[in-house]
Amino acid sequence: MAVLPCAGRLLLRCNTRKVAQISSRQSSAWLLCQSPKWFHDCGRRLEAEEPTKETKSVADAAFWQEYRRTYDVQSPTFDLKNPVPRSLLDRKVTAVGFLVKIIRLSDALYFAVLQQGAGLESVQIICRDPQTTKSLEDIRLHSAISVTGTLVPKHKPKNASKIRAVHKQEVEKDWMSLEQVEIFAESITCLSSFSRDIPYGPQHVYRPSNRHLQIRFDLSLRNALLFRSEVTKFAREELKDFHEIETPILFKSTPEGAREFLVPTRKAGFAYALPQSPQQYKQMLMASGINRYVQFARCFRDEDLRADRQPEFTQIDLEMAWVKGEDVMQRVEKFIKALYGKFAEPDSFLLPLRDGPFYRMKYDTAMSHHGSDKPDLRIPGLIQRIDHIVPEQLRKMITHLENPIIEAWKIRLNGNTKTVQSFIRKFMSSPAAEPFENNVEGGPGVCVFDPSRPLEGLQTFGFEAAEKLKDFYSKLPKEPVQTAEDHKIGTSFDEGDLLILQARENLPHSGGSTALGKLRLAIYKAALAEKLLEPDYTHHYLWVTDFPLFTLENGVDPGQEGTAGFSATHHPFTAPKTAADVDLLLTDPLKVKADHYDLVVNGVELGGGSRRIHSVDMQKFIMRDVLRMSKERMNDFTHLFRALSAGCPPHAGLAIGFDRLIAVMRGTDSVRDVIAFPKNSKGDDLMVMSPRLVNEAELGRYHLQVIPGDEAPLEEASADDAEDAEDTAPANALLIGL
Ligand code: ASP
Repeated sequence: MAVLPCAGRLLLRCNTRKVAQISSRQSSAWLLCQSPKWFHDCGRRLEAEEPTKETKSVADAAFWQEYRRTYDVQSPTFDLKNPVPRSLLDRKVTAVGFLVKIIRLSDALYFAVLQQGAGLESVQIICRDPQTTKSLEDIRLHSAISVTGTLVPKHKPKNASKIRAVHKQEVEKDWMSLEQVEIFAESITCLSSFSRDIPYGPQHVYRPSNRHLQIRFDLSLRNALLFRSEVTKFAREELKDFHEIETPILFKSTPEGAREFLVPTRKAGFAYALPQSPQQYKQMLMASGINRYVQFARCFRDEDLRADRQPEFTQIDLEMAWVKGEDVMQRVEKFIKALYGKFAEPDSFLLPLRDGPFYRMKYDTAMSHHGSDKPDLRIPGLIQRIDHIVPEQLRKMITHLENPIIEAWKIRLNGNTKTVQSFIRKFMSSPAAEPFENNVEGGPGVCVFDPSRPLEGLQTFGFEAAEKLKDFYSKLPKEPVQTAEDHKIGTSFDEGDLLILQARENLPHSGGSTALGKLRLAIYKAALAEKLLEPDYTHHYLWVTDFPLFTLENGVDPGQEGTAGFSATHHPFTAPKTAADVDLLLTDPLKVKADHYDLVVNGVELGGGSRRIHSVDMQKFIMRDVLRMSKERMNDFTHLFRALSAGCPPHAGLAIGFDRLIAVMRGTDSVRDVIAFPKNSKGDDLMVMSPRLVNEAELGRYHLQVIPGDEAPLEEASADDAEDAEDTAPANALLIGL
């Protein structure tokens, strides 16, 4: 060991290692203090050292002093929570929170209110001495503060006798409420100031960049987030027969169905993909002998965004081994009922569910009677196919198609003929109707039943067809989702009944909705807005089943990249429904029904799942011979094939969209109202301004290159401006019989 002389300014002393740091102009070095005396001397020298000019001026600054003081503040001993134990009365307590109100009664008497956030519990502070009143005066509202003082019963001079009576009565009990106590302040410390220029308040409209203020001050957002937290806790408890297992977020790209986000790595040409769902991992867990899996899983999909979509979202993801789809549906139904049992109440924002099992509806029925694979059972009137009644001349008026399917929807609104006529005229000339009028299969035909007119307003049908139409309606059977009253209305014609006709190509159903299904929903919403229908706040749950296993490719969704011209409707791991459906794979794959079930409530698809193909050879057959995927893309699933080939048990599962579940339970249309930091309709997080441009160094590190002309500057968009834009294009619906 060599002994070296060194000189410099003493900087630091580290007690645990008995070392000190000295610095010279150019560098610094650590000294190992061999004798305790040397070490002690270092400490003395440090204390004695004069601060430099620079440190002195900063150390005098208000922010420095305020920050330094926070180290001396006592830890809180008093929670702003109800009820308050009586034993704390007359004791010294320290409470922390935001200073939300100051009332100055005189120089020597101030009241203040301490709160931990909008709508949360608060406690009153009373300041009677010059020092605490001065401290309070110096603190801006909404700053974070700490108050130390004595907890006393609240004293209200004006009705003192009453208060004393309450106090006496309460003191006899073990608990008091926060409203009955106050803190007689001895010291008040500002922990962090609320800047002068921050706009705030319950009515303030916050920019997305101020989401933290919105969460603090907007009671409904705050309550939604706290509600979500409660549901999460309850869901975990309710699903305790499942094992909660985390799966990787850094996955790899596989052609499962949705477009993925890639995560470049420093290894040239290699990327992870974020999971569109933990689907493959949870199936591998089934092969691993985990019988019941659950995860509150983050999922990522690079899709076009809509009001109820986010590029990242949360699922309650489930999988069960040794079961069929039916078992999963029953377990999930039990879970949803338990949630409502816990959180729903009559006359509240969340009403109890109707008794009995959830409705079951086949995909074809949903599409033909509701025009949607996620039916909203609140919409009155079912869609009926009526092309056998429509005269040639009327067909030609509503479509150019030679052999179309013509469907009709009849609805009875709360209004007479005139009211309904003017409602539908207004709707048809509104921008909302434009896509329906421009339908390439023909615009909608509209009639209002009017007994005072020739053929009761059905004159475009002609006498014979009008009679046939009424006869057809009068014989319609009652559907399980209809009440007796709905059925009575649906099978009769009355003054003001609105009848909408719509033609479509004569093809099997495919996809999520028909034009008439969309129009039905739009008219329903418009009628509600015009108060021509009573709103129904009940949640009508149903299972939609018997989806086609495959759907023709639409050129938008990536599918499985096979060459068959169709892709898996749900995902390529979904099993055919029956043994007969298995055989159909060989002859007519587009006719195969899937053991796929969607959980739907009031027009929202809340979840979806399926029984899985647990045989490796069958899985490979479907991918290779039915979907006609390339060898290369099939190789992406090697891990899954390996798992399935290890005696994988039959299994089935489902995922519930958790953001949507909370949005539905809170009665909001947008998942953004129940997510703390949501992305906007362009996928941007305007609070943190993500995504951000990748800089040159990062491009290099990840072996990336920006192709000239493709750079998209990150602009601060005004929140959701595109969604709010009003379209004022003129309308040209076929108003027949009006
Ligand atoms: N992984 C599927 C999805 O995200 C759900 C499932 O089939 O369990 O939609």
